[in-house]
Amino acid sequence: MSREYFEEGARVGILTPEPLDRVLDYRAPEGGCWLGAFVEVPLGPRKVLGVVWGEGAGDFDAAKLRAVNRVLDAAPMRGELRSFLEKAGAYTLTPLSQMLRLATRVPGLSDPPSMRKIYRLGQGEPDRMTDARRRVIDTLVDYGGLGFTLSELSSLAGVSTSVIKGLAKQGVVEEADTPRDTPYLPLDPDLPSKDLTEDQASAAEALRKGMATRRYGTTLLKGVTGSGKTEVYLEAVAECLRQGRQALVLLPEIALTSEFLTRVEARFGAKPAEWHSGVTMTERRRAWKMVGQGAAQLVVGARSALFLPYRDLGLIVVDEEHDSSYKQEEGALYNARDMAVLRASLNDAQVVLASATPSLESWANAEAGKYARLDLTARFGEAVLPEMAAIDMRTQDLPAQSWLSPRLTGEVAKRIQNGEQALLFLNRRGYAPVTLCRACGAQVGCDHCDARMVEHRFQKRLVCHQCGETKPLPEVCPSCGVEGKMAAVGPGVERVAEEAARAFPDAKLAILSSDLFGSARALKAQIEEIAQGDTDIIIGTQLVAKGHNFPRLTLVGVVDADLGLQGGDLRAAERTFQLMRQVAGRAGRAEKRGVALLQTFQPEHPVIRAILSGDEEGFWRAEAAEREQAGMPPYGRLAGIIISAPDAASAFDLGNHLARHDDALRAVGAVVYGPAPAPIARVRGRHRVRLLVKAPKGVALQGAIRRWTDGVKLPTNLRLSVDIDPQSFY
Ligand code: ADP
Ligand code: ZN
Repeated sequence: MSREYFEEGARVGILTPEPLDRVLDYRAPEGGCWLGAFVEVPLGPRKVLGVVWGEGAGDFDAAKLRAVNRVLDAAPMRGELRSFLEKAGAYTLTPLSQMLRLATRVPGLSDPPSMRKIYRLGQGEPDRMTDARRRVIDTLVDYGGLGFTLSELSSLAGVSTSVIKGLAKQGVVEEADTPRDTPYLPLDPDLPSKDLTEDQASAAEALRKGMATRRYGTTLLKGVTGSGKTEVYLEAVAECLRQGRQALVLLPEIALTSEFLTRVEARFGAKPAEWHSGVTMTERRRAWKMVGQGAAQLVVGARSALFLPYRDLGLIVVDEEHDSSYKQEEGALYNARDMAVLRASLNDAQVVLASATPSLESWANAEAGKYARLDLTARFGEAVLPEMAAIDMRTQDLPAQSWLSPRLTGEVAKRIQNGEQALLFLNRRGYAPVTLCRACGAQVGCDHCDARMVEHRFQKRLVCHQCGETKPLPEVCPSCGVEGKMAAVGPGVERVAEEAARAFPDAKLAILSSDLFGSARALKAQIEEIAQGDTDIIIGTQLVAKGHNFPRLTLVGVVDADLGLQGGDLRAAERTFQLMRQVAGRAGRAEKRGVALLQTFQPEHPVIRAILSGDEEGFWRAEAAEREQAGMPPYGRLAGIIISAPDAASAFDLGNHLARHDDALRAVGAVVYGPAPAPIARVRGRHRVRLLVKAPKGVALQGAIRRWTDGVKLPTNLRLSVDIDPQSFY
């Protein structure tokens, strides 16, 4: 048993988020400190944040140790979170100080507690009763003696602030000072839920049984879009709240939160805490504190919500668990889905992974019995999966520079006539992926990356999708100098929208593409307008594939179903399969059966055939067999080593050096491939090369990689980062 409390003067080890990667020794401050306490310590001339990580272990002269300045006003970090940071750091080979940074991203952590005025019930009697006064008193009674700020109380009771001030003069309500960060309104798990279908009810029951164990366990909740997965996992949340434990729901897109918050409010009577990049600083601070005190019962957030200081976390739901945005691609490279499982196992918590199209990893874990699996087969109500068919593009007569087949436009026309909506899906932002010179054939590339520049007609610029560099459309070819010959080649969503506008001049069109919206709010407004309004045709990128409800939508046209099938990436088949099924799931969510049409030049491709026949298990089995044979994840282990340098040659030099000195890897049966240009070969002027390490399952890969890379001396301008379980294989 390690020590939990350190008396004044005791030697304590403090971890700081500073890039030091080691625990520093200090003397405990006056009054002592608890293990896990947030403290402020002197570091050189600065004062920095730190966490008491354990007994001081260094041999630094005790007489020269500096003292901790003060203990901050925050609950000490619990043991589960400290082990989570250690284990997650060890798994992803991320320095512990960098992991701590993820857990301390909250403003004002070191500020003294700030207070504000609230109003609560007092002892006095009103001189006379009015309707408005009655409402104020009732509101305060209803909320069980909670206090509110003037503006909160006036809006909750529906009265003007002068009514409250009048009551305060008579002592009927009283003013009090309270910490600024007020608790959230309580969620009530026992409010009536929807009547669940038999399928849903038995899945909910299974999740409740899991909660009752108060032990770790993971369940894959699989069900087509609209089958009611959300309704089902909200019952697990309800059970968690009944147990007095905290729940976390992770969503892959901020754009999905507001719809979700509304559903939570309808089910539990109040809004949960929110945690993502769109949340204000004040709200962040409040959420962080309340989570730490156990006063936030439910958190809805992005992957960083895994690092909040829960007091008693009982459940983590990862919605759309297959979504690639759960992988953090900068800084600490972690996959939030996997980290959710780790965090839950340290907290005796349950995990629910919800998806219509699970990742192959989760599918395989369920097959192997590591995860439980629940299937919701039917869609709720009358909505059924759309009818799917391929449009064989080899048989369609298309004029040059057009991408919508006569068959597809014919179907779109029918929907418009019936007052229904059609969606044209193309997973490619911008106007055209290639801009080339018709005189010399040269393509316009990015000056900083290897990528081609993509024309964005709304912005009237060329944009690099890798590094964000933009430049105006050239009039003159940068290669041959001929004027007026630059041409757009291939379609992006903007161009498909242009074609649709030509084909349907009277239709109302909307484009949904992430680059066209300045903020999550603007995007949300657009989505709501489409859901309710009179949009006839939606043209969208993968943004539309994610869980929005468009009840009048009955046709989905996939403009290029072959996109994503080519290329060496072994995950391409999985991605295409998921994306097609997700996007097809947008059609016909209400009463009418939807139709999904896939434009393809290779209708006999196994992936396209699996999508059309709907034989999911068959697809997974075939894909799993292929991966297993190749020793690829999840049947083998992979890690990427990315070396970046101002020039390609020195990055390759180091890569080659590492590849030659691979004894530490070979000792555990791992092999190294490369160096090769990284999937993103140049970013912001830096060249990147990648080594790929492949190992059989069960090998302690991280240790071997550490021994291997620790041996090399990094020249100052070179950087090396390790990506355990990379998203793309080639
Ligand atoms: P999923 O999460 O699987 O996409 P949802 O839980 O969002 O599915 O359900 C789809 C729609 O059907 C939602 O509008 C939801 O409120 C509704 N729904 C699902 N189950 C029920 C039910 N048992 N009773 C009433 N409405 C339901
Ligand atoms: Zn670029």
